[in-house]
Formats: sequence, structure tokens, C-alpha cells
Amino acid sequence: MWALQDARLPDGARADIVVDGELVTGVGPGAADGVADRVDASGKLVLPAFIDGHVHLDKVLIRDELREHDGTLAGAIEAIHERKRRYTVDDVRARASAMIADSVRLGTTRLRSHVDVDTIGGLTPLEGVMAAAADCADIADVRTTAFPQEGLLRDRGAYELMEAALEAGADVVGGMPHWELDEASQRQHVRLCFDLAERFNRDIDMHVDETDDGGVRTLEMVADEALERGYVGRVCAGHVCSLAAADHDYAERVIEKCRRAEISIAANPVTNLVLQGRGDRGLIRRGTTRIGEFRAAGVNVLFGQDCVKDGFYPFGRGSMLEVALISAHAAHLTNRSDLDFVLRAISDGPAQAMRLTDYGLRPGARADFQLLPVLTWSEALRLQPLPEKVWFRGRLVAENSVRSVMYRR
Ligand SMILES: [Zn+2]
Repeated sequence: MWALQDARLPDGARADIVVDGELVTGVGPGAADGVADRVDASGKLVLPAFIDGHVHLDKVLIRDELREHDGTLAGAIEAIHERKRRYTVDDVRARASAMIADSVRLGTTRLRSHVDVDTIGGLTPLEGVMAAAADCADIADVRTTAFPQEGLLRDRGAYELMEAALEAGADVVGGMPHWELDEASQRQHVRLCFDLAERFNRDIDMHVDETDDGGVRTLEMVADEALERGYVGRVCAGHVCSLAAADHDYAERVIEKCRRAEISIAANPVTNLVLQGRGDRGLIRRGTTRIGEFRAAGVNVLFGQDCVKDGFYPFGRGSMLEVALISAHAAHLTNRSDLDFVLRAISDGPAQAMRLTDYGLRPGARADFQLLPVLTWSEALRLQPLPEKVWFRGRLVAENSVRSVMYRR
């Protein structure tokens, strides 16, 4: 048993955090009394370790080996094909492991990674990411989503590979219905994903409507399917870019359906800001979904890193603080309650989407948390400091101790 003494919680209250084994057993002033083994937090901010609920670990860090392309989603997908054919398990494993370690160093201990499952790479990306997850199991929790990046109907054989991926232990069923060639195929793609999810008893996390075209409406297909099959609270929809370009009547109707189906929305402004609107002149669409409207309707929203130095996005470093800051800019999130919402979108939001029951700074939760050299969350967001210490399952797994600087307001 040990305790973090005199930390500052996100709400500003001072508290001790007591840890026994992998769990938090006490949070509050004086909770450390009688605990011999103590770490002094000196009033600095403690946060639960962040969660990256939407990332693609199989593709990270391949950017330098790709040919140049037009910067669009389609351009990136095609540019990656050649590299994907050359993937080996060890190659994916090494890149994914490096990214997981970077994420941990920057305060993230849980990640849910989409992993391409298609006839180009076969199951190699999944095997590589699962091997990296096993290699890094002592510092982070990594879950996988089997993701048919090239489509389920237009890529013949992908469905059988999806079955094999789930049999091999992929945690979640992915999808990308808008990538199919017509509306009937999109609808069929959605049905097939739900069929797989029901058969293997998995949650669903799809790439939905990652396009500027407001006429593309697979989010409603996903919501209808979830409601029809009673898959309530088990579906996450990522990107959802076209909703921003759709008419308001449709948006209001489908947001209400998402609320009823308890669908989580993984907004990924970091990538979509550079990917979408490439064909626009003047007022350029930026691909950020209706974050404010989802929030107002009570829909769970999370922010993901999505991409790190891959064909879609040349930047990224596994920093959820950076993701939060960029997303705050993209979605006009500046006042106090907005900033609380931003923190939620990289902590409790993804925890809810992943249906984690052991997350947070509370007794009974897993002891995954971080100490930051600032006094408040808004200062953490503004200054983007490295966490001084990161704990995973109650063990210290990262320390950034160049110098312990206390930033003051
Ligand atoms: Zn994505």
C-alpha cells in the first residue's frame, strides 16, 4: 500500500490518493494518514491517466516511406497500399510498441486501436498490434478493433478475414460503410458489422461518414440498426464528418437517434482538420463533426488521436493533451464548462465508449493516474507539460524528471 499525498484533483480540491495493489482504495484529505509509503505531490494536479479511444497503431510512423499524394482520405488510403503489402508482424509490432511507449510517457495508459483487416495486409496488422499490446502489457492496456479499411463488399474476402480476426481475439468490430460504392452496399456493410458483433458478442466501433459530402448518411443507418437490434450503449461512431455539411433537419433527427441508441461519437479533429475540405475554395470545410450539438443533446463525445505520422496525417505524438488542445480550437471550446468537457473527452468520455467500469480517480478504480507540474486542468491544457509521473495498475511506469517545475498562474 502507498499513497500520493497532497495532490490537487481536477475540481481544485486537495486530496491524498491511497493505492493498494492495482486499485485506488481511498481519495480525500487525510486519506494517507497511517500509510507509511508516501509520494509527495506538493499540491500539484493529479488526473486519471488519459485514454486514446481512437487510434490506428498499425499505421503509425510509416509516413516517410510513402509516396506523396493529394492529401485526401482516398489519396492516403491508396498511398498506403504499397506499404501495407510489405508489412510484417515484426515491423508493425515495433512501430506500435514505440507509439504505445510514447503515449504512456505522455500520460495515456489505455488505447483502443483500429487495425486494418483486408485482403491487402491480411491479418498481419492485427498480429503485429496484438504482439505489441502483449509486449507493452506491463505499461498499458491496448484493445483492438478489427477494421475493414478497404470495405466489406468492395474488398471481396474481407468479411471472412473479419471473422478470422475476431476468432484471433480482436476485441471490437470495426466498419467503414461510407467507403462502399453505393447506398445499398453501405446498408449491407452496416448489417454485416452488426451480424459479426452479435455472433461474436462484441461492441462496435465504426468509421462513419468520413467525407465532406453532406449527402452521405450512414450514421443514420448505424443508429437505426443499433436501435432495431437493441445494441444500445454498445456502438461508437468515429469521425462523422459529413454531418457538419448535412442539413440541420437531418442532423437533429440523427443526433436524437444517436442519443436514444447511446452511441458514442469519436470526433477526431486533429486528423480531419487537415484531411477534409481539400476541394473547397474560400470557406473551407474542416471535417469536424457537430461536437457542440452532440454535447447539447447529451451524446457521449470523445476525442481521439486517430493518426500519428501516417498517410493521413504527418504529425501526432501520442499526446492526448495535444489532441485536447487542437480539438478545443476546432470546436470553439473555451469557457470553463467547455474545458471540463474537453477533459472528459479524453478521459471519462472514452471510458464510457469502451464501457470501462474501473476508470477514474475514485475508490475501486484501477490506479492509472498521472501527476502534472501545474495547479489546474486549464493550465495543463494551455502549457502542455509532460507529466512528472505516470502510474499504471498502481505501479510507476513513466517519469519525466528533467526538472520539477511548478507553473503558477
Ligand atoms: Zn480513424
